[in-house]
Amino acid sequence: MNKIINVTRSSMPRFEEYCEEIKDLWDTRWLTNNGIKHNELEKRLKEYLGVENICLFANGHLALELAIATLELPKGGEVITTPFTFVSTTSAIVRNGLVPVFCDINPNDYTIDVTKIESLITEKTCAILPVHVYGNICDVEEIEKLAVKHRLKVIYDAAHAFGVEYKGKGIATYGDVSMFSFHATKVFNTIEGGAVVFKDSSLKVKLEALKNFGMLNSENVEYVAGNAKMSEFHAAMGLCNLKNIDYNIVEREKAVKHYIKLLKDVKGIKLLPWQNNVKANYAYFPILVNEEEFGINRDKIIEKLKEQGIYARKYFYPLVCNLSQYEEFKEGAELLTAQKIAKNILALPLYSDLTACDVEKICKAIIL
Ligand SMILES: *Cc1c(COP(=O)(O)O)cnc(C)c1O
Repeated sequence: MNKIINVTRSSMPRFEEYCEEIKDLWDTRWLTNNGIKHNELEKRLKEYLGVENICLFANGHLALELAIATLELPKGGEVITTPFTFVSTTSAIVRNGLVPVFCDINPNDYTIDVTKIESLITEKTCAILPVHVYGNICDVEEIEKLAVKHRLKVIYDAAHAFGVEYKGKGIATYGDVSMFSFHATKVFNTIEGGAVVFKDSSLKVKLEALKNFGMLNSENVEYVAGNAKMSEFHAAMGLCNLKNIDYNIVEREKAVKHYIKLLKDVKGIKLLPWQNNVKANYAYFPILVNEEEFGINRDKIIEKLKEQGIYARKYFYPLVCNLSQYEEFKEGAELLTAQKIAKNILALPLYSDLTACDVEKICKAIIL
């Protein structure tokens, strides 16, 4: 029986390491609401990410949704974003009563095409919400220029970009706010979890309230809000995983370099480009399949891999704008590149303990 290779495999500390970390919770009996593990993780993450302000959440989606809410954008305002993302990005915009305006992506690294943003700006535009796709960063400098010129807020979906640096600075130092996801499948995980990093330190009070029923303190309930707090057990998992993060990223890098060696000269398979001045996190390894050159299409490759117990993922597919609940926002949008990439992209298995042998097996299954 073949060993199954899934598209991802969560990073975990040794069992004893986690047990050691959670032990004192049996003394404190303080399991959530900004406990010691939560506060320690906040502190360590600020150091690791090189940022001043952070707020932890139960998951990345609610972190993004509440980050948008904190900015108090006008109801019905337009937010320029891309459809080549996880549905969470668009859903966070719409659930805030805002209107997503879909911008196409660039064909090199699949992030927002900055040359097309300006033509989409109207009187109603209030923010740009780009995505650092696969850990590849957006053109943060050009986006910053456009935002200053048109007085727009910039909110990054940095769910894929944990630990990524640009010109020696943490990626979340760009933009007004950035959201990281700490979901089990991400480079750094707290099982479920997420964070908002923000420039204006005065946002902290509202973010804290919005994740805790809108309460400023026990007698003062200021906002209509739900519950999106991170528990002590999740924070403890984060503390353990953060200790091992550099090792995990190095292991991912090894797997990625092995993939590149084996696939770079294969006709009809395009790999992600290297970005200059970027310290990468090797979050994903997508290939773009050109059926005419390669001979078979993306979906056929998935079938071939499956026969050998290897599970790749169409990521991102379908495009968010092709989902029925978001279709109304697509009208008139030119999204040719996004449509083409979504049809031909395939994320191959990648995780820190993916072996060289696994990579060879995967590449063989694709090529032969
Ligand atoms: C994972 C992810 C999210 C949502 O994060 P969760 O922690 O799973 O809620 C949002 N956007 C993108 C691009 C993601 O990959």
